[in-house]
Amino acid sequence: MPNESPANADRFDVIVIGGGPAGYPAAIRAAQNGLRVACIDEWKNRDGSPAFGGTCLNAGCIPSKALLESSELYYRTQHEFAAHGIRISAATVDVAQMQKRKSTIVRGMTQGILALFKGAGVTPLQGHGQLHGGKRVEFTGHDGARRSLAAQHVVLASGSAPIELRTAAFRAPHIVDSWGALDFPAVPRRLGVIGAGVIGLELGSVWRRLGAEVVVLEALPDFLAFADQQLAKEALRHLKKQGLDIRLGAKVSAATVRGEEVDVTYSDGRAEQRLTVDRLVVAVGRRPYTQDLLAGDSGVDLDERGFISVDEHCRTTAAEVWAIGDCVRGPMLAHKGKEEGVMVADRIAGRFGEINYQVIPSVIYTAPEIAWVGLTEEQIKASGRAYKSGIFPFAASGRARAMEQAQGFAKILAAKDDDQILGVHIVGPLAGELIAEAVLAMEYSASSEDLQRTIHAHPTLAEALHEAALNVDKRAIDTLNR
Ligand code: FAD
Ligand code: AMP
Repeated sequence: MPNESPANADRFDVIVIGGGPAGYPAAIRAAQNGLRVACIDEWKNRDGSPAFGGTCLNAGCIPSKALLESSELYYRTQHEFAAHGIRISAATVDVAQMQKRKSTIVRGMTQGILALFKGAGVTPLQGHGQLHGGKRVEFTGHDGARRSLAAQHVVLASGSAPIELRTAAFRAPHIVDSWGALDFPAVPRRLGVIGAGVIGLELGSVWRRLGAEVVVLEALPDFLAFADQQLAKEALRHLKKQGLDIRLGAKVSAATVRGEEVDVTYSDGRAEQRLTVDRLVVAVGRRPYTQDLLAGDSGVDLDERGFISVDEHCRTTAAEVWAIGDCVRGPMLAHKGKEEGVMVADRIAGRFGEINYQVIPSVIYTAPEIAWVGLTEEQIKASGRAYKSGIFPFAASGRARAMEQAQGFAKILAAKDDDQILGVHIVGPLAGELIAEAVLAMEYSASSEDLQRTIHAHPTLAEALHEAALNVDKRAIDTLNR
């Protein structure tokens, strides 16, 4: 680097505050676009070590998937292997090793971000960032040292934090948030989960498969109320079969730690009910996190729910200040934040950048997996648009049967008039991988006929989408056309 005055060293084209899956891709793309970039992140892990990657890599997507994979393997030894003709006399669970493996994966991934920054030329700054007027950023390092930085553009990517219930305040190790539930050192005998959302179901599944008795309390009367209800019903049936005790219409009103137990009180609409568990996970959603992010003169407005207000291109109310990821409106998903980061970095560089918010996939990594993109059948009905529906059950898939995982279905909803695919809903093996084809199809405004005429390898799980598309016009080959 050429000799620079300290003033120049503190001046950037782009400063990104937040190094999670929204912020770090924004920083990398901005650097790829030839800009001088710094990325500030304050995350510290439980051992006090700073790490890039935010919630997703340190306490969300990645550690949860590591434990889901380990627990799923154990579950399969118990429930699937015998059908394959494999007898295992004594499979046992070593939670310490599972946790060690999880931590190694997390460490590798978060250190990978530093390597990516180095390769792209992004300056990593570990500590707190606060935006002031005039796009000045006050940086306080973890060692307490302060620097005043300036940028042409600032990207806010401060993420989200778990919502705490007043009626069930966090009290580790008994009443914990999702991060706490990813770090249990042993399998709780009785586990309560408040909230049957994505996170509650995934964490409940992990500990259920490892042997815990799991009760999930959900205030709403419908399971996965935001999903296609045919999909939700099928998923509920399978999750219940695995022993997850999911109680709908159960609103928690109190949780009290008593010795080593937690007493939970909830109303089921008729009467007050009680439940005693050893550990309680509160998974009732997340809220935008903007603590100490904005100085009074920053010019950045929040909306009434605490999200940073942005337009469709993630511009805030302050000129040349952008905001992306969980701290702005839209689904709280890592891939949504990543694409917003890339869009913003490209727009800053004067390039094209758009997000198609209608085509963002959702995945729940239970077994079977649950995945969808586009509109639900309920939403299409409500819109009044005439539609056609095609379903293919995995029971008719040779590959799913060979895998001993012939559960669930793929469902495609297409417009009656022009046959455009409006929504795809899959519950079944590797649904989270299969949905990618549907996302691509919808991104290209494909019709069900486009999928019908696309050759799918045999025997694959992906054939379920092909056959569901054929079933839209009642021309499926491998299932009855109903
Ligand atoms: P975050 O990941 O929260 O990152 C924000 C970063 O900014 C943090 O490191 C924070 O410390 C830092 N920061 C905040 N303020 C400042 C400041 N002022 N100065 C410096 N640094 C600051 N999503 C999926 O898509 N798929 C999944 O499978 C999935 N699984 C999940 C499982 C769990 C248990 C949880 C909790 C979440 C899961 N999510 C999943 C959601 C996903 O983690 C979030 O959508 C994603 O992390 C949001 O990215 P982000 O960059 O906006 O925010
Ligand atoms: P998500 O926002 O997808 O993580 O889901 C959180 C879930 O928690 C939602 O389905 C809420 O209905 C549910 N929830 C919120 N508060 C309570 C409560 N007091 N008791 C039971 N469930 C709750």
